[in-house]
Amino acid sequence: MSDDILRISNLSTQFFTSEGQVNAVDDFDLTIERGEVFGIVGESGSGKSVTALSIMDLVESPGEVTSGSIEYRNPTFADAMRESHPAAVEGEMVDLLAIPEEARRSLRGTSFSMIFQDPESSFNPSLTVGEQIAEAVEVQQRATPNPRSGEARTRGPEYSLRSYVMSMALPSKRYVSEESKAKAIELLKTVGIPDPAQRADEYPHEYSGGMLQRAMIAQALAGEPDILIADEPTTALDVTIQAQILDLLDDLQEETGMTILLITHNLGVVARMCDRVGVMYAGEIVERGTLEDVFDRSVHPYTEGLLGSVPDLEGTAERLRSIPGNVPSLLDHEMPDRCYFADRCPKAMEECLKKPPAYAAEGSANHTTKCYLAEMEYDPNQALENDALEREATATTDGGESQ
Ligand code: SF4
Repeated sequence: MSDDILRISNLSTQFFTSEGQVNAVDDFDLTIERGEVFGIVGESGSGKSVTALSIMDLVESPGEVTSGSIEYRNPTFADAMRESHPAAVEGEMVDLLAIPEEARRSLRGTSFSMIFQDPESSFNPSLTVGEQIAEAVEVQQRATPNPRSGEARTRGPEYSLRSYVMSMALPSKRYVSEESKAKAIELLKTVGIPDPAQRADEYPHEYSGGMLQRAMIAQALAGEPDILIADEPTTALDVTIQAQILDLLDDLQEETGMTILLITHNLGVVARMCDRVGVMYAGEIVERGTLEDVFDRSVHPYTEGLLGSVPDLEGTAERLRSIPGNVPSLLDHEMPDRCYFADRCPKAMEECLKKPPAYAAEGSANHTTKCYLAEMEYDPNQALENDALEREATATTDGGESQ
């Protein structure tokens, strides 16, 4: 039996701005197996973070998940949803986009949790770090997987409904219980914070960047999630601390067996952490496969460009190689009806201007790419002339105006 824990199909997330519709995530497909570390890599602006927010149901107005499905495997949750939302359940899988928002929200923290890019702006500066982690513990312990079932995830009198009502009725009684505070200290210890009991009483500004990132991981672990989404978890840190945080995530994954979706622009981080990888460009995955498939047998020229821009410490190159140009505008009326990478692609051919390529399997069914080169050999004689894209753009504009 397949052990897919997350199956995303044809996911599209759009932002409706005054300038027009922005297709931040476009027809996105992804399957993640239980216990694996899947990396999504790509430049800034390629849609990686919006994908993470879409999975977490955290896209805010003017953004909206407009189509697709996000199926999550959880037999208990599937049983709880089967009667009330039969169309959303298939076997042990539940389509999260076909159930009410409050039911999705009940999974946040306990099933899905997220480490955000910038820990300094993610913690409340007026509360101690320990209090904030304890709050996350408290919320998760009181969370109900199925809001209709009335079955609370309680683990003792400290988390009972009576205790919650008492804390609301008596202002002197703290919402955060002693049990949650103790758990917060334990979590700080798990992520390697020295003197966790003392550090729990300190405020975010008293922590270094690396320690705050560890504290954020502790907070994300509070609900013992099935899937941890780590969005650029090491971007703001120096290389030594980066390595420590990656080691920590590695150890936690090994100990708990949780599934990790790692979002990064850093291929070194992907190589160090991931089992499989998806390369994202202009809102879609353009190549995906195992590390070997993508690093050693890459097909898509964008993947090759990313790999080529990694500094070679042993080579003699004097300059770093870069991919010329920028990620295209994702405004709907500006997105061309051709391969989105064509105007930056050193291997673009006439074929690439006719229509966007679809996925084609390359080598194995699990190594797929959205590029015509998956089906044909690159022939330099077929390469586009330098001004072909300009001519194509002019023809499109003229055609549009004459209509
Ligand atoms: S489809 Fe064509 S333009 Fe697009 S990446 Fe492949 S070779 Fe380049």
